[in-house]
Order: sequence, then C-alpha cells, then structure tokens
Amino acid sequence: MTSTNLASLPAVDRLLAEPALVSHTALHGRRVVTDAVRTALAATREAVRKGAPLPELTALLAAVEARIDTVCRPNLRPVFNLTGTVLHTNLGRATLPEEAIAAMVEAARHPCALEYDLESGGRGDRDDLVSALVAELTGAEAATVVNNNAAAVFLLLNTLAQRKEVVVSRGELVEIGGAFRVPDIMKRAGAKLVEVGCTNRTHARDYEDAIGPRTAMLMKVHTSNYAVEGFTKVVPQAEIAAIAHARGLPFVEDLGSGTLTGLEAWGLPHEPTPREAIAAGADLVTFSGDKLLGGPQAGILAGRR
Ligand SMILES: *Cc1c(COP(=O)(O)O)cnc(C)c1O
Repeated sequence: MTSTNLASLPAVDRLLAEPALVSHTALHGRRVVTDAVRTALAATREAVRKGAPLPELTALLAAVEARIDTVCRPNLRPVFNLTGTVLHTNLGRATLPEEAIAAMVEAARHPCALEYDLESGGRGDRDDLVSALVAELTGAEAATVVNNNAAAVFLLLNTLAQRKEVVVSRGELVEIGGAFRVPDIMKRAGAKLVEVGCTNRTHARDYEDAIGPRTAMLMKVHTSNYAVEGFTKVVPQAEIAAIAHARGLPFVEDLGSGTLTGLEAWGLPHEPTPREAIAAGADLVTFSGDKLLGGPQAGILAGRR
C-alpha cells in the first residue's frame, strides 16, 4: 500500500516543469530549485512511510518554495538586541552612524585612491590615509589599521616579541569570547608569556623581577569582561612604562575597546583611552574599531613610529 502511494509521487522533472517552479528557476538557477525539489520529495517520502497521507500537488509545491526561501535567505539575519548588553560581541557589535554608512557605501560604489598617491601619480600606502587621523585623535606618532584587535595584538607580538618573553600580570590573562585568549595568542605569535604577580595583586617589583635578557616588552591587557574586586592592586600604566623604559624595553597595552572620549560625561565608569595610555608612556597600544569606537570591524595599532 505504502509503496503504491510513494510511486504516485510526481517525479523531479514533472515538478520542475510546474509554472511556479519555472519562475523560481529563472530567478535562482536550476540547481537551487532541483535541490529544493529533491529535499522536499525526500521529506515527503519519509512522512508517507510513517503513515502521513500523500500530499496534494499544491502542498508539495509549497514545501519546495519554502525550501527555496530558506536556502536563498541571506545568512546574516537582522535581530533585535534585547540582551541588555549594548555592544554585544555576538550581535554585530557597534552599529554605525548614518554618515559613516553613507561614506562606506560611497567608497564601495566607485574606484578610489586607496593605494594611489594622486600627487606623485605613483603607488601610495593605505596607512597614509588613516595614520595621521588616528595620530591626531590619540597623540600617537603613527598608526595602522588591521582586520581586528586580535590581529593587531598578534602582529604586535609576532613582530616585536617572537622567540622572546612578554611580561603580563596574572590579573590580566583574559579570554574574550572563546577565540581570543592571552596565553594562546602569545603562543601562536611565537612569544613566551611570563606571568607575574597574583590574580588579585601585582606589584611594580613583580614586573622588575621578571625582566631578563630575553624580555621583549612589558604588556598590559584590559580585563574587558571581568573585574577582580576586594584586596587588589594593579600597577598604573606610567609606572610599568617607567620600569620598561629604564631597561630599554617597550611598554605596550591592549586596550580592548579603546574609546576615544571619556565616558564620564554619560555617567559611565572611566574607560582608559589610547591618548591616556600613550601619554602615560605606552609605546604601542592596540584597540578594536567596532567596540566603543563605534566603527566597522577593525583593529588599530597606534604609538611610536
Ligand atoms: C575585544 C578584545 C580583543 C579582541 O578584539 P577583536 O576586535 O574582537 O579582535 C582583544 N583584547 C581585548 C582586551 C579585548 O577586549
């Protein structure tokens, strides 16, 4: 009985010839529609085997069309962010102001002098477009922009600390969203992490004592998503910078969000800015473009040229 039922299901070609599907084929191509027909037929066979009645042709076509809709829907879906976290790492982070969106659309629409020096008529450097602007906003000598802050940290470590040691407080060994973990990124960049101090308290002498012949830099990392409270001590930026500079080493800071303006004006807790870190003696800072900065995904490296 069941096998008779199944035999009377329309064949793939018969369904593809249905006017409703012919127009889908014109729009999405034959492969998409054929796959959708096969998928819908397989699901129907399964249902009939389990005792469901044979569907009408219209129901079968509706199933195929629903399948086409699912397949052709953009993978990136808009959502409401009702999490209470304004800049949600998993929900696209910062939304952009209309002016910035308009500028991006404009830049995408026409050829532009991204790496072309219009004055000299020769090859230009894309860093030149942003370096002076970021420098003006942060007090850095120069800056470059890469894919994201994780990439900025990776490049910083790989460039300045490969096969050398990087000193970081045990209170700052952060994991961001599972993919970025300070110990792991050190390892991947070929640098050796030297942990100093304790989870709750790190002193200036901890940094001093950790410096040896293989030390490449002292590093501070923003504890973006947690806080250690109670009996705590962190060494201020300027003090770590002074310790590093006294030994001829750079002091670098991963600022995480890297807001350009003080957040106190909005009644929010203080968030360290790149300008502050650089003024306090940081030789290089890194921060995200799509967190508090409010831009597109990017990582910014700023500091001494
Ligand atoms: C968010 C964050 C990163 C990673 O930045 P992405 O822009 O997501 O790559 C690295 N370090 C800190 C301290 C962060 O807060």
